[in-house]
Amino acid sequence: MAVEAYYRPTTLEDALDLTAEYTSSIEIISGGTITMAEINEGHKFPRYVMDLRELDLDYAEEGDGYLSLGATLTMAQVLDQIDEPMLQKAARHTGGWAVRNMGTVGGNLFAPPPLGDFAVALLALDADVTIRNRDGDRRIPLSDFYTTSGEQAINSDELVTEIRIPTVEGQTVYMKYTRSQEPAPSIVTVAVNLQYRDDTVTDVCICLNGAGSHPMRMRNAEEILLGSELDEPILNRAADVAAKTADPPEDAIASKWYRRKMVRHHVSNALDQFTNAENKQ
Ligand SMILES: Cc1cc2nc3c(=O)[nH]c(=O)nc-3n(C[C@H](O)[C@H](O)[C@H](O)COP(=O)(O)OP(=O)(O)OC[C@H]3O[C@@H](n4cnc5c(N)ncnc54)[C@H](O)[C@@H]3O)c2cc1C
Repeated sequence: MAVEAYYRPTTLEDALDLTAEYTSSIEIISGGTITMAEINEGHKFPRYVMDLRELDLDYAEEGDGYLSLGATLTMAQVLDQIDEPMLQKAARHTGGWAVRNMGTVGGNLFAPPPLGDFAVALLALDADVTIRNRDGDRRIPLSDFYTTSGEQAINSDELVTEIRIPTVEGQTVYMKYTRSQEPAPSIVTVAVNLQYRDDTVTDVCICLNGAGSHPMRMRNAEEILLGSELDEPILNRAADVAAKTADPPEDAIASKWYRRKMVRHHVSNALDQFTNAENKQ
């Protein structure tokens, strides 16, 4: 089936009219690095396609205690415009240059596992997502955007327009582990945001990519660290729990068994970086 119509709206209102009219029969393209591959390889046959790139949603703004990223901001624009260390690192580890020039922040939220290397950093930074349809908008925590079935909590008449990140309070560590030299898909990616006071962990967010059907927050592992000193037995227990809780995908890159082992190893490694005196507040 050939594409019957390719839309490139210039206002959000027009774009939302199109999603309301065509709902799930319109294919949305932000940077197109996932969708175009699916169309070209014959996995998708959309009748209607809508490109979001003329909507002026490629902004990065700071204010009111938040960094706000428009959904069509590309990874290359993140690298140019944003100083936040974890977001810088996550953008640098998402594909190669060609992919970073096109691939967007919004599109990364929809990347199938084990992709989603930017989204996992957003999750660790407690980001929220603004979702709009013709009737208005709603804002939900990114952790609620991913449902247990692996789908995203968005209706077919809606678009993601913005991702907001509160001012980062803690220290962060981001590590992407791949089978070969990058650019390469993740075996496991670990993003941790941790606050430490008087030798005690006061707040922590441990997020993993490659450990489930979407980027996941490992709350069971976090509970072990909260209120504890970050010593070796504690961080090893947290890493054990993360590995037990993980339900990694199996693919040509890595087996489920191997990914689980790597979750254990890399969560432990990531937490170990906070035991360095320089990281303590
Ligand atoms: C060679 C190659 C290497 C890659 N390496 C990596 C990697 O290392 N790590 C990684 O995480 N990813 C990787 N990717 C995947 C991809 O490039 C990134 O995940 C990118 O951020 C996806 O963004 P996009 O804008 O191109 O998505 P698109 O292809 O434009 O969109 C993907 C999906 O998201 C939906 N969507 C997009 N934006 C919106 C919106 N605003 N509202 C509602 N729905 C929307 C679309 O319906 C579509 O189904 C790679 C891709 C390629 C081709």
